[in-house]
Amino acid sequence: MSTDDFIDMRSDTVTRPSEAMREAARDADVGDDVYRDDPTVNELERRAAEAVGMEAALYTPSGTMANQIAVNVHTEPGQELLLERESHIYRWELAGASALSGLQTRTIDAGDRCVPTPEEVEEAIVEEDLHRPGTGLLTLENTHNYRGGRAVPKDRIDAAATAARDAGVPVHLDGARVFNASVALDEPAPALVSEIDSVTFCLSKGLGAPVGSVLAGEEAFIEDARRVRKLFGGGMRQAGMIAAPGLLALENVDRLAEDHANAADLAAGLDDLPGVSVPDPDTNIVVADTEAAGIEASDFVDACTDAGVGCGEFDTYTTRFTTNLDIDAEDVADAVDRVSAVVEDLSA
Ligand SMILES: *Cc1c(COP(=O)(O)O)cnc(C)c1O
Repeated sequence: MSTDDFIDMRSDTVTRPSEAMREAARDADVGDDVYRDDPTVNELERRAAEAVGMEAALYTPSGTMANQIAVNVHTEPGQELLLERESHIYRWELAGASALSGLQTRTIDAGDRCVPTPEEVEEAIVEEDLHRPGTGLLTLENTHNYRGGRAVPKDRIDAAATAARDAGVPVHLDGARVFNASVALDEPAPALVSEIDSVTFCLSKGLGAPVGSVLAGEEAFIEDARRVRKLFGGGMRQAGMIAAPGLLALENVDRLAEDHANAADLAAGLDDLPGVSVPDPDTNIVVADTEAAGIEASDFVDACTDAGVGCGEFDTYTTRFTTNLDIDAEDVADAVDRVSAVVEDLSA
């Protein structure tokens, strides 16, 4: 049950650190991480790399920074960055690829597949010549946030990645929630990124850490990434204080299944409300469409918030609810009751 009466499903980033995480932060063995002297950060980077089957990893303050570092390291200014049209890197990172790395973006609309087909990738890749910039990087996303937390199967990721790499273009996966994908697909995370050059994942979302994300890849790539992290202002000192809870977060992978079960129950409950349609979620993200009820998302979010249910506007008629570590089955049942009253009220 939530600590107060507000059932906060705005995001899976809203969770509060557990007592164990607070104790781990207090007791963390620390050093200056810019000098690579922080044993807790070093341990976290080692375990994080292992968790996704990569050679090395870098601890970052946020997933956005991890993605933007990857984009920067893989490319040269003036190249093109190839992304999915609804991807986080394209839509929600403040045009960082152009502002920080001097890139032009080209998008592919992958629709419900979430990841482009190999043919779409091949067609979108631009070869460098006297007139054309050349494609520097392809990014993919799993789970796909904006398309409803969809867990993209390994074969689809592999096919898109292989098409790019065969054309000499490296591939970065925005795996902010890659462990949600892993749990939902019953596929180990390393298998999901086996054809990928680098991957970002968030410790601060479903895994419950207060702060932090990870960028993982080959040793030499991570060495370059460490310099770019400094360039972007992300060199941290006694960061073991926040990395220690991150180590505990890595133990929360299996329990993501509870978030997924809660999301399925929430989706079923909301879908039963008149004029509300909710597809079955793959993971912990539930997207409710209220168009048939004639309710715009901005009004819906305000009313739900007033009724004690936190959620977020996605589009004109769609609203996102995200189950998380602080939400249990009872919260879900309560949330459905509260939203039911909201729908009745706003449909009138
Ligand atoms: C949350 C998120 C990020 C960025 O993480 P922050 O830590 O909030 O910067 C990147 N990609 C996706 C798909 C996300 O959902």
